[in-house]
Parts: sequence; structure tokens; C-alpha cells
Amino acid sequence: MAQPCIRILATGGTIAGTSGSATGKAYRAGQIGIEALLEEARGLDLGMACEGRQIAAIGSQDIGWAEWDALHRECSAALADETVAGVVITHGTDTAEETAFLLDRTLPAAKPIVLTGSMRPADALGSDGMRNLATALRVAADPGGAGRGVLVAMGDQVFAARDVRKAATQGPEAFRGFPRGSIAAVSPSSLEWFGPPARTGEAAHFAWPQSLPRVEVIHAVAAMDRTMVDAALAAGAAGIVLAGLGQGNAPRAVLEALGEAAARGVVVVRASRTDQGLVDRNVEVDDDAFGFVAARALNPARSRILLQLLLASGTTGPARIQAAFD
Ligand code: GLU
Repeated sequence: MAQPCIRILATGGTIAGTSGSATGKAYRAGQIGIEALLEEARGLDLGMACEGRQIAAIGSQDIGWAEWDALHRECSAALADETVAGVVITHGTDTAEETAFLLDRTLPAAKPIVLTGSMRPADALGSDGMRNLATALRVAADPGGAGRGVLVAMGDQVFAARDVRKAATQGPEAFRGFPRGSIAAVSPSSLEWFGPPARTGEAAHFAWPQSLPRVEVIHAVAAMDRTMVDAALAAGAAGIVLAGLGQGNAPRAVLEALGEAAARGVVVVRASRTDQGLVDRNVEVDDDAFGFVAARALNPARSRILLQLLLASGTTGPARIQAAFD
């Protein structure tokens, strides 16, 4: 039987980074190109064919519309190509959750699409890059990986795009999921899914937009005033995500400024600056009175992506936007 073919889309990040130092200090992301990565991937001898394309060679802190547009186009082409069984995207870890969630909402789930990266450069002691790449390739070649949306494989764990976030600055187990943790058990010899796929046959949630509207994230702190809200409005924000205190809270002056914004038609989503947990409606903040949306399980970064997609698709009004966050 022919081996499955996995297409690797390389964007840079630490998985393609070198430092020339054993401890990985002062490293540079995106130094290793797709040809070297493919050679490594083929050398892993995982029972699959690999081909690849270089999309970018950047640290993911610099990712933006041009790279996302190219990734979406390449993923769509791979989904339509019957010779390709799955896709692996190598990516910096800093914004992996944003790229994963954006692609998850805008691509059908017919084949596995798996982001991976590394926390330690390729030439540092204990580098996790090739181990993560091997896991991602195994997930991408596994028929059980289809129908689950875009996945992130890091630290011997597999997360769904809607759950995953980078939760630590260091260490190979920096990624966590909420509300679900890893959705598969990965060992050197086995890969087992914890439940059936939820998106079998499901089309993309959103069409790919022409552009993404301006949505600002405002980080709440004690004793802040409304300056950042006014700055976001002056910049022309169509939406504001509050990275709020606790359950999406903020000082009274900030809530009032956000309420004025909502009354003017700017969509305001309350998320939390804490590491995880739900933000529900009308618990301490009166969302009904202010006209706010509660982010529920999404953190500020992923709330921003969802709000951008909703606004780009013409969805308006807090009730319809709340339904999408629910
Ligand atoms: N800032 C870099 C990036 O996100 C390095 C982080 C990493 O890849 O681990 O690409």
C-alpha cells in the first residue's frame, strides 16, 4: 500500500531556530529552511512520504495577514489534493494559538491539519523540535486525526485549536488546553484519541475574509483609567476585547467607557487576563445593561480572532455575537 503523503508548510519559529549555544540563549528563529526540515522528517522513518513548502521564515511574533493568507491558500490546496493525506505547519510558538484558531474557523475539517513548533532551538541541549515534528507527522497521517479541526501537537500532547494556548515562557510542556486538555494520548508506539471526531463532514465555519477588521485587546489592571479605551476608539476599532480582571472585570471608569463604545456600535467582548476559566454573562458585570458580550471559554487572543471573523462576515449585534461565543 502506498505511504500517506504529508505536506509540511514551514513558517519559521524556534523549530527552525539556531543559537550556536548549548543552552539556546540569544537564538534566532527561522534559520533552518524547508529542505533541511524535510531531510530531517524523512530521516525519522515514520512510514510516510513528506513534501514541503516554505511559506515564511519568521518568528511568529511577526506573523500577520500576508502569512495567514498564504497559509490558508496552501491548506485549501492541500485539502483539495487527493495525493495529500494531511498537513503539518511548523510555526513559532508565541502566536501558534492564533494561527491555529484562525485556520480552524476558516477551513473544512476533512483532513488533519497540525501545527507544531519547539520551545528550544534545534542546536540547543534537549531540543524538542524533532520530537514535536514526529508527533505532528504521526497525527497528520492518522485517519483518526480528521474531523477534529486544526490541531496543535506540542510536548507529546495534541490539542484542539479552540482549546489551546501557550501557557509558559519556557520548557517543552508550555502548551495547555481549556476546557479540554490533550485530546489524544501519544506514546512512542501509539496514538489514541480520547473521543470521536466532532467535525466530520463539517464545512468551514467562516469564508476566508478579504481582510480582518481592527479589533484591539485592552489589558485591565488595578487603578487604570479609560485612556486605552479612548485610544482604541480613536484608532477606529470596530471591536474591543477586554483582557479583564478575574471574570472579565475592570475598574468602573473603564466599564463605563466600554459601555459608551458598545452604545456607539463597537462590539465589546469581556475575556479574562487570568490563565483559564469561563467568563459568563451577567455574573458581576451587567452585560445586558452595558451591551457587552462574554467570551466564555476563549482567552483574549482567540476572542479577538473570532470577533474579527464575525465582523468580517457581517455579523452584528451583541446577541448574535454572543451566540457565536457560546
Ligand atoms: N518568538 C519566536 C516565535 O514565536 C520564538 C518562540 C518559539 O518559536 O518558541 O517564533
